[in-house]
Amino acid sequence: MVRLNELVSWSNNLLQVDEYQDYCPNGLQVEGRAEVRRLISGVTASLALIEAAAAAGADALLVHHGWFWNGEDARVVGMKQRRLKRLLESGISLLAYHLPLDGHAELGNNTRLGRVLGFTTEGRFGKGPGGGMAVFATLPQPMSGTELAAHIGQRLGRVPLHVSGGDRPLRRVGWCSGAAQGWIDQAAALGLDGFISGEVSESTVHAARELGIDYFAAGHHATERYGVQALGDHLAGKFAIDHQFVEIENPA
Ligand SMILES: [Zn+2]
Repeated sequence: MVRLNELVSWSNNLLQVDEYQDYCPNGLQVEGRAEVRRLISGVTASLALIEAAAAAGADALLVHHGWFWNGEDARVVGMKQRRLKRLLESGISLLAYHLPLDGHAELGNNTRLGRVLGFTTEGRFGKGPGGGMAVFATLPQPMSGTELAAHIGQRLGRVPLHVSGGDRPLRRVGWCSGAAQGWIDQAAALGLDGFISGEVSESTVHAARELGIDYFAAGHHATERYGVQALGDHLAGKFAIDHQFVEIENPA
């Protein structure tokens, strides 16, 4: 068992939340029970995840996508009311870590996505402290774009959308989880042969072709499943609490 306050302050320090300019509050978003024995983690604080956490007897829910985004309607009505009501009724605390969980060098989404893909991070770029949240690596061996797409599909269990940037082997690739497709310019400027993110925009396809860099949209959800699991496992070990990741399937 750990006090909620202790769990939150440990996590906030570990993830250096004050170093990031984010679009949502990081850390404790909704306060529930004062003590935590069972932690459930998931990618997004959807109603389905809250229901699963309540059914599992969770004291706290740890997510990458929490609530209270900049610019959203502040009123507690509709979908937001139903989510919040269910959470408060269950006494479950909501802890959310967004950009700090993308960027963390050990537990972050990008470091962990690299491990899942079997790539060792060599450097960082993009926005964020410590050189940026996005990372790059030299592939264990050069691959064609088609081969890398198949490799990503096999490791993530989801076939990526692949845009070819030219007919040559890929040697160095970058990646950044979620909706970082806009960083394809920076990836190309670094001389990378490929860039992997979660989502794709119409303009990304033209950018890939014209900049000569292969692009892989591997899924926002699929690329952001790993940081929250790593953080949950870390907290379970540190504080001797139960932790379980709940996958709410999402094709986007
Ligand atoms: Zn995201």
